[in-house]
Amino acid sequence: MGGFRYVRTPIPEDPGEGRKTGFDEILHAYTKEEAVLEAQRCLECAMPFCVQACPITQDCRGYIMLIAQERFDDAARLTIRDNALATVLCKTCYHYCEEDCVMGGRGTPIAIRHLKRAALEFGKSELLYVASAPRDQRVAIVGGGPTGLAAAWELSLRGYPVTVYEEQKFLGGQIETIPRYHLEGTELDTDLARFRNLDVTFVGDKKAGVDFTPESLLADGYRAVFVAIGASDPRALGIPGEHLPGVFPALPFLLAANKGPDGLIGRKNRRVVVIGGGDVALDAARSALRLSESKDVTVVYRRAKEAMPAGSEEVGEGEGEGLRFVLERAPVRVLGTRQVEGIVLQRVDVGPPDATGRPTTVLVEGTEETLRCDTVIVAVGELADLTGFPKELNLSPVDHPWPQGKRPDWMSDVEGVFAAGGKSVVYAMAAGSKAAEAIDAYLSKKAGKASTPRPDPLGGSKSPPLPDGYGGPTWQL
Ligand SMILES: Cc1cc2nc3c(=O)[nH]c(=O)nc-3n(C[C@H](O)[C@H](O)[C@H](O)COP(=O)(O)OP(=O)(O)OC[C@H]3O[C@@H](n4cnc5c(N)ncnc54)[C@H](O)[C@@H]3O)c2cc1C
Ligand code: SF4
Ligand code: SF4
Repeated sequence: MGGFRYVRTPIPEDPGEGRKTGFDEILHAYTKEEAVLEAQRCLECAMPFCVQACPITQDCRGYIMLIAQERFDDAARLTIRDNALATVLCKTCYHYCEEDCVMGGRGTPIAIRHLKRAALEFGKSELLYVASAPRDQRVAIVGGGPTGLAAAWELSLRGYPVTVYEEQKFLGGQIETIPRYHLEGTELDTDLARFRNLDVTFVGDKKAGVDFTPESLLADGYRAVFVAIGASDPRALGIPGEHLPGVFPALPFLLAANKGPDGLIGRKNRRVVVIGGGDVALDAARSALRLSESKDVTVVYRRAKEAMPAGSEEVGEGEGEGLRFVLERAPVRVLGTRQVEGIVLQRVDVGPPDATGRPTTVLVEGTEETLRCDTVIVAVGELADLTGFPKELNLSPVDHPWPQGKRPDWMSDVEGVFAAGGKSVVYAMAAGSKAAEAIDAYLSKKAGKASTPRPDPLGGSKSPPLPDGYGGPTWQL
């Protein structure tokens, strides 16, 4: 321990100017020395709120203690043991753990997510997961995003043969839309390489509702089916003109920006308006800034900046890169004849609170104004696409945009079919794990066996040699 240092070891990052033109990663890894220095700020709390706050209960205190002792190989091993998508999460996780880190009360929380990256960069991370003895009950998973992948990991570790059916030709789901300045694009492959010895088969280009249904998978001999299709169908604005060429939903735009050099809008002199105030809107706007030569990108949001659902880091960084914000305005009409020529906005006032207590918004008559633009990107949320899914499953989303089984164990109204999802990568993984536990309990009961806790994913009983006197988190969640 290096005494109390309340201020975080700065995370190296690119200066703002180059960011407007390129998709190079913004945050850079700590050096080994910086990582050790930062880890030594940790108080090694007996009751680690950081671990409690992590949706997958990653033993972050453990890997931080190991880094503090310069034991990077052990830190990498501990990280990978708890976390099937550690390489993805060390760059994209919204670090819920840091919100509850006790150092945050006095100064800056420990850089828990960035230290995960240091563990993987400097420790030996090319490890392979080890399966338990094989079982004869096959499980099908529909959807290869983080929910489905975490479930595949959990179930295959317990010995179940798993097949993941995915509509796209690639895995990752919405992870593939995260801009390259956050995630280079090779991280998921790095994580999936550790699955090599698990009995998981990925089948791409197969869409549930078209090529098969959950019930047809049961009829094909799968003993359980997990629907993990997320929510990717764009919500419409519901205003005239939104079908004009030049109006794009955010997700296909971001996917194209990642998969092709120019994205959907082309590297032209575009004037872009992005509608929405969440992280997806900010990702779309910051990507558009990099793709458009005019650098003329405006975010339109119906509430005040403080009420934006996007993280304040994301908003601040976007502003620094040159995004403009038009706030407390809502779009009422997209202008144009053959393509977008502008968008009409109207002022929005705060109305009475809704059922959840959040103030509603009301349009103010006589306040219309026109913003000239040739591209509109719509980022006002997504819903699950359940076309072709039998109604008996009763999967229509209620509290979440993704489909979820209505029973407490997330089983649907059809026996053996489960469904779940999550609001971020780590929450999606937690949902996948919880569903896998429920599926294991269901199948074990059918086979007359006891359900099994997750075996040590790396084999052995205590895979990483832990710091002296370390007993793991001192309570169970
Ligand atoms: C632009 C963007 C940026 C984001 N940035 C972050 C971030 O930085 N950090 C973070 O933690 N979270 C981020 N998120 C949120 C996170 O990616 C999602 O919460 C998470 O991916 C949800 O996981 P999921 O597996 O439930 O769904 P998805 O990721 O949507 O995966 C569902 C999968 O199912 C497939 N599928 C859908 N329908 C069918 C069908 N009928 N048949 C077969 N397959 C089907 C889809 O193709 C997809 O691969 C971001 C999301 C977006 C859109
Ligand atoms: S996975 Fe996310 S919430 Fe969990 S310890 Fe890592 S950064 Fe924190
Ligand atoms: S809460 Fe913060 S200081 Fe305490 S163990 Fe976790 S990271 Fe370290």
